Amino acid sequence: MSVKTEDARLTAVSGFGGTKLPACFLLEGRGSRILIDLGEGPDEGVVADVSGVGRVDALVLSHGHGDHAGALRLLPQVGDPPVYAAEPLLPRLPKGVQGRPLSPGANEIAGIPLVTGRPGHAPGAFWLRFGIGGGLLYMGDHCRESCLFAYDAPPRSRCVILDASYGTDDTPQEQRIAEFEAALSSRPLLLPLPAYGRAAEVALHLARSGRQFRVCESIRAALRWMADTAADWLCGDTARELLEVANLAPPAGDEADGLVLAAAAQCEKGASARLARGAIAGDGSPAILFTGYVSKGTPAATLVAAGRAGYCCWNVHARLSENVDLVRSTGAEVVMPCFCDIPEVNRIAPLLAPARTVTQNVFSWS
Ligand SMILES: [Zn+2]
Repeated sequence: MSVKTEDARLTAVSGFGGTKLPACFLLEGRGSRILIDLGEGPDEGVVADVSGVGRVDALVLSHGHGDHAGALRLLPQVGDPPVYAAEPLLPRLPKGVQGRPLSPGANEIAGIPLVTGRPGHAPGAFWLRFGIGGGLLYMGDHCRESCLFAYDAPPRSRCVILDASYGTDDTPQEQRIAEFEAALSSRPLLLPLPAYGRAAEVALHLARSGRQFRVCESIRAALRWMADTAADWLCGDTARELLEVANLAPPAGDEADGLVLAAAAQCEKGASARLARGAIAGDGSPAILFTGYVSKGTPAATLVAAGRAGYCCWNVHARLSENVDLVRSTGAEVVMPCFCDIPEVNRIAPLLAPARTVTQNVFSWS
């Protein structure tokens, strides 16, 4: 169904109404149809269903994580549109995809003005503010507490799509880090991490606290790439600190020895998969520590369920008070809290008033 030119409509193709659904949103207005993110996971085998979307004029990626950009093989189903992403991510897009650069600041996509800013979450990540009907702000994944990734405050926007992955949880990073530090007493300890995100934040924190640790080669390569290619996304002088870690941290061996940072995050592949097999402590205390979402159907989920791995959250998404502040500072009238279940949406809604929280996966405005 087409939308009248003066109206705009946002449909959550995937990402609203369930915990950690992959991101995929359709913005329609001014005669244009723009897809925002096209993710897969993080739960094994969960992918956005784009069969009802039809042809779109463009796909805009908020960042490169799998649950936002991991389903680009579905592009032929939406007419093989050009894919807009931050410049450092373009060489990492699958072969055959027509990648086009998103600039920091002002852009125009399919006739709709788009302003971007850094969301404090990952290298090459942007929040996206479409200049239509008073502004639609899509936050992607965002976090104001990162020691590494810079955060730009978004402008006023009438509609805001929030990263509500943490729902009503409001635990500050300071407290998370205290819990994390307490968990580091296990030796040897394997930290399975995503190379292009939390691994760099954890490495920076450990280096600053004077701890010795090893890194796998995927994380070492990611640290170099961030410092060389995506330094514009990093706070202060942290590019230099990341390079120092990349140059000095000893390699992860074949067995977990001391403190080891290894990708991938769910022990599904790479050095963490190899090391997880031998890293279970003899005294029964957890010698593997997960710090991010444990995806269903992965070795990480099996390890945690069996009591063979611990869990301690490291904030990389917005906690509740950040989201409340964001809704206030943008002057939002309509809010869609995403990546959490409906009972959690209902608990968040009164805290965001007078902004109206949508209860379905689609809303229109003019
Ligand atoms: Zn992400």
